[in-house]
Amino acid sequence: MDLYLKDKVIIVTGGAKGIGEAIVRLLVQEGAVPVILDKDELASKKLLEEIQSKGIFIKTDLTSSEACKKAVEEINHHYKRIDGLVNNAGSNDGVGLEHGSPERFIESMNNNAGHFYFMAHFALPYLKINKGSIVNIGSKTSVTGQGNTSGYVAAKGAILSLTREWALELLPFSIRVNAVIPAEVHTPLYDSWINSFGNPSEKLKSVTSKIPFEHRLTTPHEIANTVIFLLSSRSSHTTGQWVFVDGGYTHLDRSIS
Ligand code: NAP
Repeated sequence: MDLYLKDKVIIVTGGAKGIGEAIVRLLVQEGAVPVILDKDELASKKLLEEIQSKGIFIKTDLTSSEACKKAVEEINHHYKRIDGLVNNAGSNDGVGLEHGSPERFIESMNNNAGHFYFMAHFALPYLKINKGSIVNIGSKTSVTGQGNTSGYVAAKGAILSLTREWALELLPFSIRVNAVIPAEVHTPLYDSWINSFGNPSEKLKSVTSKIPFEHRLTTPHEIANTVIFLLSSRSSHTTGQWVFVDGGYTHLDRSIS
């Protein structure tokens, strides 16, 4: 199936590794031009070289609105167009209610949700020209809770609300806005989380045993497939949606699976 993404310029924040990397790889397969905004220069450059992409990497500290603005200006200077934005970067930074602080909570909110707004705000004039599409990456923790991670879940909850809010605000411009919600995906971030437990392989076994579909983690590629579909005009009447790609982890009755 042709997804009509050829030569489309798509921004992927956190595109160097994990879910972002899988999205970048798939975009290139579809003939699109990915723009990676990430702080990991080595991994980003290695990836673009390996996949021989026409895309570029812009080293960006996404926590800075000024850096996001500059990155968007650079993309426009380079390509004179922006067709899509994947707000993906984030990290589960464990700022809890009891074991946290007001300052760290605000910082976590900014680190995980601020740049979703900054990027959409600065890219909007260009997305309007091409009726672009925005895909926000959420987390099941925002609807299930996780414990000891107030900042991250608050940010991911805000991201789901912003998906609805922007879908509505951008109706006049035919810009679609959707969220993809992963639960347990095998990425470098996931590895560092699982390795924070005393017995990582036991912990992994206990998590996968509760994932109803095939009792396994979701692959980054499976998340990327859904993201690419939502970027594509093949999903031309889908907006404001929260799409869970999680093997049924969030919604299915685990007592019968
Ligand atoms: P990952 O493996 O850590 O990759 C994320 C990339 O983004 C890394 O290269 C990271 O750089 C970069 N990054 C993070 N914050 C940044 C910032 N402020 N400025 C610039 N670059 C930044 O993460 P992932 O597991 O693929 O997660 C991607 C998204 O999916 C996140 O929003 C996460 O919350 C969400 N998610 C993941 C899972 C899961 O199971 N993996 C589940 C639910 C939701 P560094 O490595 O240098 O920090």
